Amino acid sequence: MTQGDLVLMGPPGSGKGTQARRMVDELGYVQLATGDLFRAHLAQGTELGKLAQNYMSKGQYVPDDVTVKMVRERLADIPRKTRIVFDGFPRTVAQAEALDRLLKECGRSLTAVLLLEVPRDELLKRLGTRATCSRCQTVYSLAVRPPKVPGVCDRCGGPVSATARSDESPEVVKKRLEVYEAETKPVIEYYEKRGILKRVSGVGAMDEIGARLMALLERRKTPRSTA
Ligand code: AMP
Repeated sequence: MTQGDLVLMGPPGSGKGTQARRMVDELGYVQLATGDLFRAHLAQGTELGKLAQNYMSKGQYVPDDVTVKMVRERLADIPRKTRIVFDGFPRTVAQAEALDRLLKECGRSLTAVLLLEVPRDELLKRLGTRATCSRCQTVYSLAVRPPKVPGVCDRCGGPVSATARSDESPEVVKKRLEVYEAETKPVIEYYEKRGILKRVSGVGAMDEIGARLMALLERRKTPRSTA
């Protein structure tokens, strides 16, 4: 299996969180998801949570210095031998540069950056109809990818209900996609230039997409064959 850490990138609604959780379950990674960390802060009523919510509710990014500080603190709690999958971070070139510095400081390195690609029309359908399992947090789209049995999680059997994310109204979704284009597309180029970006189609069943990602990771550990 791969040696270093991974970044999972993709537009809002591309399934990053779902696939990152699979990497946790199946490969023993620790997930570091900045969106989840901000929501946890908000649920606990911290100052950081309140500050982040001002941006999240409008579909904007939380400022880089605030985000990087939170990632730095979270990183300090993760043992060096544990591999990390970064989910939703970095989202700007400044964050990508900060991540390089942070990883270097703690003797870590990135093995690959996996980009989930999903057409805009499909993202819009998915984002308006998101539903979540309250037990294991698996995310579904009731329009595009509902659970096999309505209301029951495919993964753990827990209850699945429509997600009340305040940043999923049509206007905020549109803004989030615009911000992704403007701020995060340059991060794709940043990693592409470095030769560690891998593009993966994020369309299809969750298991199919998971298998594509696994195949990519597996391929990396196999020495180049003559075939
Ligand atoms: P997510 O759950 O990853 O879709 O993130 C939800 C929201 O949290 C985003 O729309 C941003 O407002 C904020 N957020 C999450 N990660 C970052 C980040 N790396 N940089 C700035 N803002 C972020």
